[in-house]
Amino acid sequence: MQDRLRQLPKVQAVLESELAIQLIQSFGYDDVANAVRSKIQLARDSLLEGQTEPKTDATHHALLSEIHEELRDQRAPSLRPAINATGIIIHTNLGRARLAPEAVDAMRAVAENYSNLELDLQTGKRGSRHQHVEALICQLTGAEAAIVVNNCAAAILSCLTALGAGKPVVASRGEMVEIGGSFRMPDVIAQSGAILREVGTTNKTHLSDYANATCSDTALLLKSHTSNYKVVGFTSTPSRTDLASLARDKGTILVEDLGSGVLIDLSEHGLPNEPVVRDVLDAGVDIVTFSGDKLLGGPQAGLIAGRREHIERIKAHPITRAVRIDKLSLAALAATLELYRTPNNPLNRVPVLQSLAEPAERVCGRAKGLSDALRKDRAIGATVVPSVARAGGGSLPLQDLPSYAVCVTHSSHSPDAIASHLRSASTPVLGRIKNDQFLLDMRSVQDSEIETLAESVIAALRT
Ligand SMILES: *Cc1c(COP(=O)(O)O)cnc(C)c1O
Repeated sequence: MQDRLRQLPKVQAVLESELAIQLIQSFGYDDVANAVRSKIQLARDSLLEGQTEPKTDATHHALLSEIHEELRDQRAPSLRPAINATGIIIHTNLGRARLAPEAVDAMRAVAENYSNLELDLQTGKRGSRHQHVEALICQLTGAEAAIVVNNCAAAILSCLTALGAGKPVVASRGEMVEIGGSFRMPDVIAQSGAILREVGTTNKTHLSDYANATCSDTALLLKSHTSNYKVVGFTSTPSRTDLASLARDKGTILVEDLGSGVLIDLSEHGLPNEPVVRDVLDAGVDIVTFSGDKLLGGPQAGLIAGRREHIERIKAHPITRAVRIDKLSLAALAATLELYRTPNNPLNRVPVLQSLAEPAERVCGRAKGLSDALRKDRAIGATVVPSVARAGGGSLPLQDLPSYAVCVTHSSHSPDAIASHLRSASTPVLGRIKNDQFLLDMRSVQDSEIETLAESVIAALRT
């Protein structure tokens, strides 16, 4: 035993080896020395515990290459790119919308340089960061005025606080939505200081319910897009137009939270029907709120658009300053909105819309390419199967998008094990399990990712 303990390498000797010196150059002396010390201690402990084989291979080289791998993993950024093969295009856990190259370039330019973020270049005086997108949003939606904040939750909070604090806000019981990340409409209303007057029932709310609850000091009527669920059957809710004229008659305003508002009519392209911001405003809604990184396909942001007098009140309220948009998102948003301007066709330019609109045959072609690449590994089985993708992000909740997936099997891994190995790949790959099959859906993947995807899967399943 004493002999074997004596055979363990000395910390100092290991640290003086050539490989260690290289490691110290990349990771610093302290981290390497600590790792060497703890590895050798581990080997000593396992010898003393009477295990004949030390837990750690304590030769210099093996020990240091193990340390190299561990330090590299430790230093790798926690937040990193992943491949979304879930078939859910707007996946909140995977960062929602991929940005268009134009948006990425705009972010980079503003990140690397000073900018006229809050400077009016004509007068040389202080400007507003909103000036960079307001006109564009107005042009694309027909709104009189607009402002952008950190996200849609912040947009709703700003609206309710600025327009409704201390006053009654009337909203339908059927629209008390909860969306991901513990955003619950009744809680947000309470947080804003407005007083919720819930009307109607879960399945039916009539115009008269709103009318009876609205009095002279009602701050606003709030309509919410029930974007992540649908009540079907014996249901009813008044039309926007009727609600808008009720609001006008009662001398109050109508605010609608669209969640994932769209700027163009997707149903014209065989895609599901989400309310178009322009139509909602045309119907008489005074203020709408919607997300930047859902179907709009831009960065995280919350857009507020509508009547000037209300937008001005929201702009001036301190809460709006507290949830203001940052310059990088603002740059990306402006560039994304630009892609909606004629003669651009956003369906060819905005990645989220490209993924939604891509013909199923092309998705199928990508699935074939991937399955061919995967089958080069004899242990992997890969077949192309039809599947159903979704827009996600709380938008278009029930709408199926025809898609194709690669069903991956492995000679020694279960579907769950495959999923877990792929999550820990150097470029994590996220698929889904359906009917005990592991699927990589190709509608949410790009052609340019296929090579990395195939390599990641093959390497991850070899372990
Ligand atoms: C997604 C959503 C929100 C929140 O949007 P964020 O940009 O994530 O803050 C609010 N309301 C509805 C109806 C939504 O679908």
